[in-house]
Amino acid sequence: MKPIVKILAVGLLAAGVGVFVGRMLAPKPDPIPTDPLGKLQYGNKLFANGKLVMPPVDEMTRYQLQTDGQKPFAVVVSCSDSRVPPELIFNQGLGDLFVVRTAGHVISGENLASIEYAVEHLKTPLIVVLGHSHCGAVQATLSDKPLAGHLPQLTAHIEPVVRRLRETHPHLKGDALSERVIREHVIHTIQTIRERSAIVRELHAEGKVQFAGGVYDLRTGVVEWLKLPADLGGEPSTPAHTGRESH
Ligand SMILES: [Zn+2]
Repeated sequence: MKPIVKILAVGLLAAGVGVFVGRMLAPKPDPIPTDPLGKLQYGNKLFANGKLVMPPVDEMTRYQLQTDGQKPFAVVVSCSDSRVPPELIFNQGLGDLFVVRTAGHVISGENLASIEYAVEHLKTPLIVVLGHSHCGAVQATLSDKPLAGHLPQLTAHIEPVVRRLRETHPHLKGDALSERVIREHVIHTIQTIRERSAIVRELHAEGKVQFAGGVYDLRTGVVEWLKLPADLGGEPSTPAHTGRESH
């Protein structure tokens, strides 16, 4: 073998070994979760990292959903804020989420009935309450300005949380108070759903329905999952955060 050919052959062999070893040492991608909360956390990670995957919305998918019926894996009770669309921020498609939205995710008889329909008739196993940063409904509740029309009916649902926090944490003011109200109001909304709906309460006691609460950050796109009190199942304990690793 000529020296130049020999050098080339050795070089190619070394390159091949390098590629093989590199593949062996490369971190394997995390498996895609199949549990309801895991799917939402995974989808939010894709969204927050700008790697949204377009779900199927073609005619065959629509036809199948019409003939087979819907089987959403999560009820999402969220604020109506136009910057917080659940299907986008959790990267989900047609038939995946049963969404109940009001400004400030407040609970009325009508939206309790919607939640009950999902958990009882559609057998949806997870109820997520999703608050978000800079929530106008929370800011309106904290404001001293008089509110017009039906708005006082809405803020009345958030006022007990504000009153309690002002008593227990009188030092909290401005943004710190607002952020704390947003988090406590998510927990309060889950408690309200559980207290007011015997159907939800029984399904939760039987282990057929779980709760989760999160706060969506308008700027980062990340949902921070809150640790729930033990009577709500204490789910999820881990992970506390999802999304950007550098966050
Ligand atoms: Zn809001």
